[in-house]
Amino acid sequence: MTLKNSWIKKALPFLTLIFFLFSLLLIWGFLTLNHSNYFHQLNMRHFKHTAALTGLIYEPTKLLETETPIDINQIRAAIIDIRNQPTECLSIINSADRLLMRLIDTESVITICESDVKSADETLEALTRYENGAISIQTLQTQLLKALGEFRTNSSRFEIPVEKTANFIAKTTIGIIILSSIIVLFFTVLLSRAVSIVLTKREEAMNALAKSEERNKQLAYNDTLTGLPNRNSLEHTINTAIARSSRSKSQFAVMFIDLDQFKDINDTLGHTVGDLLLIEMGKRIAHTLRENDSVVRFGGDEFVAVTDCFESIETADIIARRIIDAISKPVKLMDIESYITASIGIACYPRNGENATALLKHADTAMYQAKNAGKNQSQAYDKQTAIKQNRKLSIVNQLHQAINNNEFHLVYQPVVKLADGSTVGSEALLRWTNAENEIIGPDEFIPIAENSGQIIDIGNWVLQQACRQCRIWHDAGAINHAMAINVSSHQLKDPLFTKRLADLLTRFSLPADCIHIEITENSVISEDQYSVATLHELDELGTRLLLDDFGTGYSCLSYLKDLPFDVLKIDKSFMPANTTIASTIIAMGHELNMEIIAEGIETKSCYEYLKNLNCQYGQGYLFQKPVPPSEFDLFKRFN
Ligand code: C2E
Ligand code: MG
Ligand code: MG
Repeated sequence: MTLKNSWIKKALPFLTLIFFLFSLLLIWGFLTLNHSNYFHQLNMRHFKHTAALTGLIYEPTKLLETETPIDINQIRAAIIDIRNQPTECLSIINSADRLLMRLIDTESVITICESDVKSADETLEALTRYENGAISIQTLQTQLLKALGEFRTNSSRFEIPVEKTANFIAKTTIGIIILSSIIVLFFTVLLSRAVSIVLTKREEAMNALAKSEERNKQLAYNDTLTGLPNRNSLEHTINTAIARSSRSKSQFAVMFIDLDQFKDINDTLGHTVGDLLLIEMGKRIAHTLRENDSVVRFGGDEFVAVTDCFESIETADIIARRIIDAISKPVKLMDIESYITASIGIACYPRNGENATALLKHADTAMYQAKNAGKNQSQAYDKQTAIKQNRKLSIVNQLHQAINNNEFHLVYQPVVKLADGSTVGSEALLRWTNAENEIIGPDEFIPIAENSGQIIDIGNWVLQQACRQCRIWHDAGAINHAMAINVSSHQLKDPLFTKRLADLLTRFSLPADCIHIEITENSVISEDQYSVATLHELDELGTRLLLDDFGTGYSCLSYLKDLPFDVLKIDKSFMPANTTIASTIIAMGHELNMEIIAEGIETKSCYEYLKNLNCQYGQGYLFQKPVPPSEFDLFKRFN
């Protein structure tokens, strides 16, 4: 029940009005009481003057005694005195009094007063007539005795209505007092009820507010899915641990835990299963930890554990191992058995950071180190690795703008036919000078671009530039010049790769066989169905396929039979010392009917040696370092 709509609220104005009217009645009652008291006083005076008149007349016979003649003036004054009381009484009775008199049956007051006045007037007239000799003393005596009798009677009759009035007023007053008390009581009850309703409502509102505040707090500091504290509470948790650790001069660890294959599970089994998995993993981590350790859900599939203080640094590794073991146990979600692993980065206070931000950042960096090292493991924060990691991140950021800012260019290294030293082609090699004018080598930025996915755009740019250059050189007369383009394994997974190359061939009117696609042996080893399909498409298109850095892959060579490679490029690491390996590779290539290019030829003796082994082609500083197109001599013979 709300006070707004309650009957109490509706009744309050009426009750206030009634109470007000009763209060008025009460005041009126008291005033009237005073009035009636005044009547009584008038009557007393009337009585006194009547007594005086009695004394003057003394006995009816006295008036007749001639030796004591009567004092007419004294008698007149006494009668005037008597007459004054009823006259005054009549003058103060107003219409309201008359109404009240009718109500309480005291109208006789008026009759009495009028009769009194009438008797007094008749007597005064008789006195005047006596003085004038119009009437005898006997007649006057008779009149005086009659009037005296009436005055006495009236005086005693007058007290009856006065008493009645007093009684009425007393009763009314008592009634009003009782009624007022009842009303006051009623009001008090009502008001106390209203106040208690208001207070209850207020208390309810306060409770609701407190509850909603509590809930907001819960929401603000707790993760609704797992029920664990959320990242908002992390800073406080770490700061508390720092304070504890500083006091006890010990250390503690912040662990950044990231589930390894969560995205795959979420994508393949759906978000509901994903959510269940997160709940389960949250529980497992929490159960693995001790009472004074804490775990929060940082967001997504990331959790952060803050351990209690420990003496030996190995403790952190042991805890991380326990978490990894707990997470990697099979988990059954909606009848689907799944497996998941976690990578954990560990940052210890105080050695890896002295505040929450630094500890968290370094644990996060270490977690990425664990991911890069193969996942399902923990890594303690290492500054050197972190520096490398930061460099990688910076390169990724810079690469975003590199194409648009024209920061890339290609250099070309001649491919020489070893038999006669003629230039038969070139290899396009990518160069990058970043916005800060720093030259960053392909060995550094290409693997990074491969990891970040940026290699697709970069590779397409290289393809286009190399094809354009090839067209220019064909137009310049080197009509058989072959252009070798390095292609990353990530590009091969792009299902549009072959089409894109075919479009470029059409656009620049290039024969397919003048384009040599170089793929490193290592990337072929991790072959997947899309890359293999692209290789066959390229073969069908007519481009030549070169197996780059051959000999570094430590692989079983069966793929050489299955995949459509035309040329083996012996890695420069085998030049010039490991001639045995070089000769073996060349012999094997011949066996497999493949052409051989040796890279990294730096000395004349190496060149001669390879030529004698019937290695068809070569590249190396001996002939030329990679140069921009303007410095490239298409028709140079290296003899
Ligand atoms: P790669 O394809 O094996 O290229 C040969 C590398 O050996 C080039 O290094 C070249 O400058 C270097 N080189 C050539 N002759 C000699 C020599 O006589 N002695 C020595 N010590 N080195 C020699 P670069 O240009 O630094 O390229 C390194 C790697 O970067 C390349 O190895 C290739 O795997 C990759 N790369 C370069 N450009 C591209 C590109 O456009 N796309 C892709 N995906 N990878 C590229
Ligand atoms: Mg190459
Ligand atoms: Mg190579």
